[in-house]
Amino acid sequence: MTDWESVIGLEVHAQLATSSKIFSGASTAYGSEPNTQACTVDLGFPGVLPVLNAEVVKMAIKFGVAIGAKICSHSVFERKNYFYPDLPKGYQISQFELPIVGTGSLEITAEEGAKKTIGITRAHLEEDAGKSLHDEFVDQTGIDLNRAGTPLLEIVSEPDMRSAKEAVAYARKIHSLVRYLEICDGNMQEGSFRCDANVSVRPVGQKELGTRTELKNINSFRFLERAINHEIQRQIDLIEGGGKVVLETRLYDSSKDETRSMRSKEEANDYRYFPDPDLLPVAVDEADIEAIRASLPELPDEKRRRYLDTLKLSEYNAELLSSNRDTAVYFEQALSRAPELKDQIVNWILGDLSAALNRNEVEIQDSPVTPQMLADLLQRIADNTISGKIAKEVFEAMWRGEGSTDRIIEARGLKQITDSSEIEGLIDDVIAANPTQVEQFRAGKEKVLGFFVGQIMKQSKGKANPGQVNSMLRDKLK
Ligand code: ADP
Ligand code: MG
Repeated sequence: MTDWESVIGLEVHAQLATSSKIFSGASTAYGSEPNTQACTVDLGFPGVLPVLNAEVVKMAIKFGVAIGAKICSHSVFERKNYFYPDLPKGYQISQFELPIVGTGSLEITAEEGAKKTIGITRAHLEEDAGKSLHDEFVDQTGIDLNRAGTPLLEIVSEPDMRSAKEAVAYARKIHSLVRYLEICDGNMQEGSFRCDANVSVRPVGQKELGTRTELKNINSFRFLERAINHEIQRQIDLIEGGGKVVLETRLYDSSKDETRSMRSKEEANDYRYFPDPDLLPVAVDEADIEAIRASLPELPDEKRRRYLDTLKLSEYNAELLSSNRDTAVYFEQALSRAPELKDQIVNWILGDLSAALNRNEVEIQDSPVTPQMLADLLQRIADNTISGKIAKEVFEAMWRGEGSTDRIIEARGLKQITDSSEIEGLIDDVIAANPTQVEQFRAGKEKVLGFFVGQIMKQSKGKANPGQVNSMLRDKLK
């Protein structure tokens, strides 16, 4: 029996978040009527000329700087020639020999929390093609060219990943980074963030890489992991059965959880790449790069470090709160309102808030309970206006839009009872009603204390201050 090692390299296509296309002024907005956002340049009319959108160059540089890559002072757009109905020009404008972003790297958290550095070979700019619509028509295919000319940054990794989990960790890290940089909205359902996975296997100890296949059509991190694992197993079974892996592009079908052959893979020279004579080389100087470097926001790794070192969060919480930019923004806004309640804020964001967001399929930036509202709620626990338990009720009410913490506490009469004579009254009533349990306690059965606390809290509808109840109850029972 041979032990196999899997090798994975990813190509990520991040749609750059510009409002117009890479070489034309047409809109890039998602979801419009087919062919309403394609101008003559996108349609490949003869005689029209592409004009490079300066914003996409800035965005590519932002990414390059963030991964510590060399930014090429001179990069070139080339024509990648092929025929397909969704590509009216007969070629895609891409970068080939001289991409704008050279080699860089990214640190991921691999399995069991270990850090691992993944090499990034390059990142280049290119235009997207249109879309073939197969389901809308009977025996016909529709072509929607709205997407044609949408700017993409293709980020190519080294074959450095050794498991599907590592590949997903890498893809998530890129996803987090492009969203931090605000260069891509990261929406996988709408195709703004797409991953192709290159997968091969080799016997453990072998140096040379095995023959790879390329998996396309993967639109979620969950499917990415499944598709890769599935493909690894398929290749192992194939080789152990005496077969050979062939270099090909395979399509992942999530409904059947299988990959199937789409086409044999083209070699680069099949595309007859050559520099596009309609476009000048892109010149970038040091000053441009430095200006962009200076404008970068705090990135996920730095944020995580700061959460660990300055805020003293645990490794786990720091990772969770920093990996999604919107979560970090939420956390920091709540924290600025109530810095002294840091631990409670962390617990509520990762606990009750996350649960509510998941349950209702709402993104944190759209949460009906804003960071300010959450901070106010936690302040009311801290100042003993309400108990932690009642706070959950107030949270739910805020989620449903019933107003601020104070308004809900007022309207529902949830204010905690801290008046000791009132609490004493409640205790006396419960003691009087349960003589048997009083005897048990006096006979040394400490456990019945819990029973009394429960009864008193019930009588007060959860509003009695639990700390006061506990200490006063003990005195009374003695
Ligand atoms: P192409 O443009 O044909 O897809 P590239 O040379 O750009 O080819 O490589 C694409 C990806 O394939 C890169 O991410 C690279 O790391 C990965 N890759 C190359 N060889 C292998 C291999 N044997 N096993 C797994 N991944 C590989
Ligand atoms: Mg490829």
